[in-house]
Amino acid sequence: MKNTTIWILTALLTLSCAVKAQTSPQESDCTPDLTVLKTWQAGQTVSQEAVDAFGGLDSCFVSQPIPDGVWQRMQGKTFKPNPHIGRDDLRHIRALHWDYDEQTHVGEMVCNKKIAERLVLILRTLYEQHYPIERMVLPDVYNADDDVQMADNNTSCFCYRVVSGTTHLSKHALGLAIDVNTRYNPYITYRNGKRRVQPDNGADYCDRSKQFRYKIDHNDLCFKLFTQHGFRWGGDWHTSKDYQHFELIE
Ligand SMILES: [Zn+2]
Repeated sequence: MKNTTIWILTALLTLSCAVKAQTSPQESDCTPDLTVLKTWQAGQTVSQEAVDAFGGLDSCFVSQPIPDGVWQRMQGKTFKPNPHIGRDDLRHIRALHWDYDEQTHVGEMVCNKKIAERLVLILRTLYEQHYPIERMVLPDVYNADDDVQMADNNTSCFCYRVVSGTTHLSKHALGLAIDVNTRYNPYITYRNGKRRVQPDNGADYCDRSKQFRYKIDHNDLCFKLFTQHGFRWGGDWHTSKDYQHFELIE
């Protein structure tokens, strides 16, 4: 029923384009709307036609100095004045990603310039292989609250913060670590024999012998790509498990 409806709608659209082209060949309403890509609205979905008309994947997977608008959004959230890292050390990445429903989404990330080129390459390969990533917006959307963005299954990199529960600067504070599909790949720590799972709604995904969507393990493409490009995986740690986390080996 659903397929039939889609077929009829597609046929009607094609017909209306053909009629339009016949009546006024100079102008057609059927060119894809590129607004989402021109203004890079992370979180929005886009059609394949729009991606093609925008210049294809070469135009959609890029690393650039932090644009003014992004820099403003970061202030007091993912970026705070500090002696370790500044605007010139960071890059803004534009990328596309598939979700589990096979829709293309606009994504963005801020990372250290040291890893920008390889991160673009990794994200592009994940996209080309239809690897599912649900969300890829800047943590500033969540006021840089890591628990909230993890619960929303966001994938991100830079955030000037300490390691949760400690005073140590996180690799995310230097833009050298990426968290992927966070809800389904939780961060598990043990203190005084008590288990803590972050995010709260990731508790169902601590048993890694189970099969579920977005799971990262040693056979996973994401694991393979990051480790091939010089990152280590938090799922291989011994005293805690950070299944969402990849960080550069320095
Ligand atoms: Zn992490």
